[in-house]
Amino acid sequence: MPSTRTRLRRSVKSVSRTIRGIRKVIGALTSADHPLLAHIIPIRRCNLACEYCNEYDDFSKPVPTEVMFQRVDKLAALRTSVVTISGGEPLLHPELDQIIARIRQHGIVAGMITNGYLLVPERIERLNRAGLEWLHRLGSEPRRLGWRYVSTNTRFFLSAAKELAHSRAQAPLRSDAQ
Ligand code: SF4
Repeated sequence: MPSTRTRLRRSVKSVSRTIRGIRKVIGALTSADHPLLAHIIPIRRCNLACEYCNEYDDFSKPVPTEVMFQRVDKLAALRTSVVTISGGEPLLHPELDQIIARIRQHGIVAGMITNGYLLVPERIERLNRAGLEWLHRLGSEPRRLGWRYVSTNTRFFLSAAKELAHSRAQAPLRSDAQ
């Protein structure tokens, strides 16, 4: 369990992050001449293969870090408020920390969407050091994803239900099996 000091430090950080986010949103609402939020994709490859997803493959190489820097710099020149890194699975990019650090150097809010499978303590430390401010982990939303899966894969759902009904009809009654 974290010490009181650590918890206090985390709370202070969290409050300051929230205030920064609110300021960015207010800034964006009062000035419509710049992007509020942009998504950048450092790699299209993913370590999962969710049935409903068409935003990944299993072979793409990471986008070269220099190219990602150019994209971040361009977004900064456009005065983008928030940059979200997604994919594919962004944690498969070996120099993701540097990309995040570049976003933060420009004073832009840095976020990431990940499936979370590669999040180990060492990687989390690196992300913290790079300045990542918020993280959305798809795996933490099983209900929403479950519904999304069912609603976008009707064919799979129907065939699974049919299969289940069929196997139940074929299964011996409990009294027969004993
Ligand atoms: S983890 Fe994300 S990118 Fe990968 S297949 Fe699933 S939804 Fe698509």
